[in-house]
Amino acid sequence: MSRFKVVATAVSCGVLGAVVAISLTSYASWSRAISDEQMLLQIFSERAMRNVEISLDQGRSAISSLDNWTGVRCSSDHIAFMQRVTINTRAIEEVRYRDGVTQCSSWGDSFSSGEDPEVDGALGGGFELALRAESHIKGVDPITLLRRGSYGVIINTGRLSDVILNQQLKLAIFYQGRMVSGLRIEDAAPWSDVISQGRQHDESNLYAVTQRNEWTAVVAEPMTSLGTSFNRELLRALPTSLIIGLLIGALVMTFMLRRRSPFAELQTAIRKREFVVHYQPIVALDSGDCVGAEALVRWIRPDGSMVAPDKFIPLAEDTGLILPITDQVIQGVVDDLESVLANNPSLHIAINLCADDIKTGRFIGVIESALHGGLIKNEQIWLEATERGFIDITSATGSLKKAQMLGFNIAIDDFGTGYSSLQHLQSLPVNVLKIDKAFVDTIGITSASSSVITHIIAMAKTLNLEIVAEGVETEAQAAYLKAQGVEYAQGWFYSKALPAGEFALFMQQKSAPFRPDCGGA
Ligand code: C2E
Ligand code: CA
Ligand code: CA
Repeated sequence: MSRFKVVATAVSCGVLGAVVAISLTSYASWSRAISDEQMLLQIFSERAMRNVEISLDQGRSAISSLDNWTGVRCSSDHIAFMQRVTINTRAIEEVRYRDGVTQCSSWGDSFSSGEDPEVDGALGGGFELALRAESHIKGVDPITLLRRGSYGVIINTGRLSDVILNQQLKLAIFYQGRMVSGLRIEDAAPWSDVISQGRQHDESNLYAVTQRNEWTAVVAEPMTSLGTSFNRELLRALPTSLIIGLLIGALVMTFMLRRRSPFAELQTAIRKREFVVHYQPIVALDSGDCVGAEALVRWIRPDGSMVAPDKFIPLAEDTGLILPITDQVIQGVVDDLESVLANNPSLHIAINLCADDIKTGRFIGVIESALHGGLIKNEQIWLEATERGFIDITSATGSLKKAQMLGFNIAIDDFGTGYSSLQHLQSLPVNVLKIDKAFVDTIGITSASSSVITHIIAMAKTLNLEIVAEGVETEAQAAYLKAQGVEYAQGWFYSKALPAGEFALFMQQKSAPFRPDCGGA
């Protein structure tokens, strides 16, 4: 996947993360607004139902106390008694008395209601109920009559829905499915469906229903007024969710970028120790014996494929990841070849140092602790330094000198490729000079270029440095170098870099019996 695609995908994921978080917040705010309102409506509907029960209870106890009258019926005392009961009972407007002989009401003895209204239901305990009955007084609202025996009490139907509700709410009281009283509603017929289907909302309202016996109280809130609650909830939750969304987005982006970027892949490879070391033999030109090898790192991907160092070393050097890689190479050399090196004291292994290590000298501690107490002698380790490590010549000289004093051999790598401070070569603590393949390639091709390699060889000899020619691919090159007095060669003419086991075999076949001076710098 290209970097652009990775970034594009990551940005999309980030935006998607934010959108999802905001959508979830909106949904949660909406659900929260609904459930908060639903709870509130439920409280109101319970309260409305309680109001119905209180009104009926008051009617019932009024009738029970009226039954205590033992005096003359419809006498002025009886009427005064009925008036007292009416006044003392909040829910009732009037008391009526009617037996087979006489009839009167708290209004007086002249009351004439005609027939008693038709009964709609029985409440138990001998009480009967007539709802929305005509009053004997013309022009007033329908009445609710509660009756037992000769007494009846008239409850103002409006009182059944007389509860304090928020402005936008509506209330309907049903008895046996018929609306008997309502607040801010004329016709609650559509609500019957809501009650029968047990729904909590339809497209126009949110409902709360309380049912007791044959009574039902329904409180409704128009969906339009829910917007305020929703906006309030959304406003409260939006900043947090925006931050969460952005964080998710940023995390996804960072994760994806880090995961997909070569840097992240290299980091993972280091953590998982996916590096192995291969060894390219170095041979003595005069005898053809193997005197050592250069340790060359390889990255083995989880799928088994191998990545060459020039694909990741530059990035590792730019990002500082070269340091842990160097550490793994050093440890790899010790793990792979400790016994081989112990059994062949003249054998050396050359390890490539990065510029940063050459400047700081950090590598010394790493190598010492890797070798510590082991069988490998410091003299068997060559340290290859390129010109990039000599930018800060003073610190480089200091750390290489220190390494040299500890017995390590120092080789100048890729010599001749852009080395700008040849004059410093004399002062640098160096034992070996590695001629770059670019010069070896010119051998036998042009005499002019060949003279450059001749000069390099001459200069190395003047400085008393041993020489390793790199990238030797032909017998002619080998013969030329040998004739020029170059001591060692490395290249595909002899062998490519080999895994540790194969290198040990190669070495056995191509090494001379132990000679104390072999391989020394
Ligand atoms: P280098 O240090 O100059 O290593 C020599 C490179 O030349 C190696 O490539 C080797 O395989 C290649 N080579 C050797 N003989 C021949 C030959 O006859 N013909 C051709 N065409 N090539 C030959 P490799 O292993 O791919 O390493 C490339 C570079 O990666 C190395 O150049 C070195 O700069 C860096 N490198 C490798 N391993 C390490 C390491 O452990 N640490 C550091 N810092 N750099 C490393
Ligand atoms: Ca090298
Ligand atoms: Ca080199």
